[in-house]
Amino acid sequence: METMTWQNWAGTASADPVRRAWPRSTEEIANAITAAATDGLTVRALGSGHSFTPAAATSGVALDLSGWAGVVAADLDSGLITVRSGTTIRDLNAVLDTLGLAMANLGDIDAQTLSGAISTGTHGTGAGLGGIATQVTGLELVLGDGSVVSCSAKERPDLFSAACVSVGALGVLSTVTLQCVPAFTLAADERPMPLGEVLDKFGEFAAGNDHFEFYWFPYGKNALVKRNNRLTTGDGSAGLRARWQKAPFYRARNPALSRGGPVSQYPPPMPGWRRFLEYEVMENAAFGALCRTGRAMPSTIKPLNRFAAATLSKRTYSAPSHEVFVTPRRVRFVESEYAVPRESLLDVLAELRAGVARLAHPVMFPVEVRVAAADNIWLSTAHGRDSAYVAIHQYVGLPYADYFKLFESIATSVGGRPHWGKMHTRDAAYLGQVYPRFADFLRVRDETDPGRRFANPYLTQVFGD
Ligand SMILES: Cc1cc2nc3c(=O)[nH]c(=O)nc-3n(C[C@H](O)[C@H](O)[C@H](O)COP(=O)(O)OP(=O)(O)OC[C@H]3O[C@@H](n4cnc5c(N)ncnc54)[C@H](O)[C@@H]3O)c2cc1C
Repeated sequence: METMTWQNWAGTASADPVRRAWPRSTEEIANAITAAATDGLTVRALGSGHSFTPAAATSGVALDLSGWAGVVAADLDSGLITVRSGTTIRDLNAVLDTLGLAMANLGDIDAQTLSGAISTGTHGTGAGLGGIATQVTGLELVLGDGSVVSCSAKERPDLFSAACVSVGALGVLSTVTLQCVPAFTLAADERPMPLGEVLDKFGEFAAGNDHFEFYWFPYGKNALVKRNNRLTTGDGSAGLRARWQKAPFYRARNPALSRGGPVSQYPPPMPGWRRFLEYEVMENAAFGALCRTGRAMPSTIKPLNRFAAATLSKRTYSAPSHEVFVTPRRVRFVESEYAVPRESLLDVLAELRAGVARLAHPVMFPVEVRVAAADNIWLSTAHGRDSAYVAIHQYVGLPYADYFKLFESIATSVGGRPHWGKMHTRDAAYLGQVYPRFADFLRVRDETDPGRRFANPYLTQVFGD
């Protein structure tokens, strides 16, 4: 008999749904929800299981949307693409490539479903850019009574502001419409730099690059600085390029899109063998071996961590945007991430550096720092404020509780907002203080799901009953 047990990527959450359903149409999603209601069961949509929080966990009915994938409509003039909710970002990128289109900004991996990514506020980096949900222009949802509703900035705007990042609390997304941009090339520049210099130049780097981030090994001197800049607006149709130059909807949210540069400045692409060596061997196989050594002999973690920081190397290349944004992540880890007001970042990092030095259990994985522009989605972690993201990680199987607790106390002291898909202990009382539109979100939840068909313990923690 097929096991019903569900587990997430990191192994930090599992559940035993009463049953699974594999809907292949909006109607079948609605039927699965009404059948659950008849049986008095709750419902959760499953994405790819890449959240570290038990956001998707259910003891009721699990909706596996992997068979509900692909593009429904593509308008090459406007760049608007409507996709089914189970589509993975990887598959979406492949289709967009063939259409001469791209997502304006992406996170570090592409294994997530589009719905899972937007529902948890998944983001990449870029001081003038928003997370993936800011690229959404329309949603279709199936509510707890089986009814199907559409929303956008014009049609049911409150529902739209709530549903773009909703942790699946309002209903099951059936389709997502995205504003894409013409395909573009990124020049990638990755190099080690003393952490002190990176922090001194943080504001300059954030403002001066389309996509800026850095990794800091807690016991090493160097950070790995990544600066990715747009070289071209790509091969989209002439009509799309012309409209995109003006596109008020998109540009209002993403002012950085005005940059560009002549083709003659492109650094060469990275050869396949070097990409394999750098990303598969160095960042996955070799780093995985270091992590296993550290886990077996914790006293080696600090020297190994310093070694990893000291052996960082420089690389510059150009490639289609999604090939630069996305890298393979095969070494398993646990993670917590908070969005903090951008102006608080340096204080947060200073406190974290001091605290990490005093931890009883050393930290194997680097800290990742990214940036995003303020947006207006009610539960976006960057709602209403230019933000810096600080993500902390630990190798699976190593102790992390004290580290994550220390980090959470620092991040919450500056009004930090936890990533909805990464580990934290915040509850509705705290979140109500740091999200100005939290009460509005709860009102929309009461309107769309009064019977709490989509409840699970994580939603009760973060939104209340
Ligand atoms: C290796 C790794 C790298 C990562 N990198 C980044 C990164 O760079 N940036 C970042 O911000 N995050 C990152 N994350 C976090 C990840 O993007 C989010 O947790 C995301 O939600 C995962 O998507 P998923 O498809 O796996 O969704 P799941 O984790 O399966 O589900 C997430 C939530 O979405 C809901 N949901 C899924 N589908 C639907 C639907 N159709 N309708 C309604 N609700 C739905 C689920 O019920 C659940 O509440 C990373 C995670 C991992 C493991």
